[in-house]
Amino acid sequence: AVQESFRSMTPSQFFYEYKEVAGFGSPARALYQTVRELVENALDATDVHGILPDITIVIERVNENSNYYRITVEDNGIGIQPQYVPYAFGQVLYSSKYKLRQARGRFGLGAKMAILYGQIRTGRPVEVYTAPIGSRKIYYFKLKIDIEHNRPIVLTKAEYPNPKGWHGTRVSLVIEGDWWHSKHRVYEYIKRTAIAAPYANIVFIDPNGNVVIYKRSISKLPKQPKEVKPHPHGVDIELLKQLISGSQAKTMVEFLAEAFRGVGRKTAEAFLEWAGIAKNLDPHSLDDRQLELLARKLREYQKFRAPSADALSPFGPEIIEAGLRSILKPEFVAAVTRRPRAYEGHPFIVEVGIAYGGEIPPTNEPILLRYANKIPLLYDEKSDVAWKVVDPHNFDWRNYLVTFPAPVAVLTHIASTKVPYKSVGKESVADVPEIEQELRNALREAARRLRGYLLQKRKEEEAKRRIIT
Ligand code: ADP
Ligand code: MG
Repeated sequence: AVQESFRSMTPSQFFYEYKEVAGFGSPARALYQTVRELVENALDATDVHGILPDITIVIERVNENSNYYRITVEDNGIGIQPQYVPYAFGQVLYSSKYKLRQARGRFGLGAKMAILYGQIRTGRPVEVYTAPIGSRKIYYFKLKIDIEHNRPIVLTKAEYPNPKGWHGTRVSLVIEGDWWHSKHRVYEYIKRTAIAAPYANIVFIDPNGNVVIYKRSISKLPKQPKEVKPHPHGVDIELLKQLISGSQAKTMVEFLAEAFRGVGRKTAEAFLEWAGIAKNLDPHSLDDRQLELLARKLREYQKFRAPSADALSPFGPEIIEAGLRSILKPEFVAAVTRRPRAYEGHPFIVEVGIAYGGEIPPTNEPILLRYANKIPLLYDEKSDVAWKVVDPHNFDWRNYLVTFPAPVAVLTHIASTKVPYKSVGKESVADVPEIEQELRNALREAARRLRGYLLQKRKEEEAKRRIIT
């Protein structure tokens, strides 16, 4: 008989073989993706924790005729405790963001993909300087990833005094890149980051020494997200098992009240009665059939409170308007932040901003600026739910007095503890019906204000004409 041989793969081996799925398919794409991952980490370390970000991004050619680029990103964020640094940068699928709280990072993958991609082509390690808030030392690490075992290999470790009380992180790595073919995207990415973060100072130095500075134009930060417990509509058997094994509860009532957000004893009792499950049952005694029943009933019960939006961090209309105004220089802006809603137990908030006229060039379709959890999305625009909503084939812009070609830009933002990305490269969002509906509502609301403005403008122009003639 034929004998197949078997082996298993570590997560770093998997992503080493399937780099494309994480956005590292070519040197051009990898350069863009590296900037993105490092900037996302820098922002997650600042605004999420109430710090106004100061971020510097530098891309340098390693030497004149090579396609090796050094990418360095520095932030003034919360830093990283030294004992976690090797894993944060040297073990794929290691993260401080595996919790129910909105963050840009999600997979515990970004920084490591950049490091891994750099190391397999250029052989160069990553270098990290970091100081947590209040640290009397600055920590330095030079490390690589042991891809076969998915473990960090620390090459150098050092500590320096920190007399000025600096805090933050500086990550520097060398990858094989293609500046010529990624230049446009990198610039666009940084510009869109600046639009959505008018509360940040961003300095970018490109490989030719060009310096771009986006100065902070508002010192208001988005609301800080809080960590929350799961909602019963989002459970399955596996999540239930994990929650039960982490719980000391002796009865079902206790367990439900403790494990889920917005479920008190009363709600728990009402639910158990409805589901036909004994209140005093020990959750640790449930067998697979009972777990399946419990998970199903939890998803079906319609009287739980809606998932709370505490875990979310929308921009808010003020920040959206400030960002659109300072970068696009339009004559009119309107921004809408919708009330929180949920899909499958995941809370989400949709926001839409419209900028019109001024320095915006007229185009045949609206210029779309997509964001998800405050990250700009650049690739795969036409397969994103946001495009589906703003597409003039689906949305009747003429109702709002806009006929294309028109100078109109639309910003869309989906904030959620679980953005339904179509891939781990985080480039487009799937068309979940609840999200699509909210996007449409938000767009209508913002477009109505644009219509009001355009009507007013039309009237004034007609009045002027009457005076002249
Ligand atoms: P993710 O961002 O999805 O968690 P990454 O591989 O990009 O995965 O980063 C791993 C972890 O390293 C983060 O969860 C965070 O705890 C830490 N980290 C990375 N960059 C920074 C930074 N600039 N400041 C503070 N912590 C960071
Ligand atoms: Mg990250």
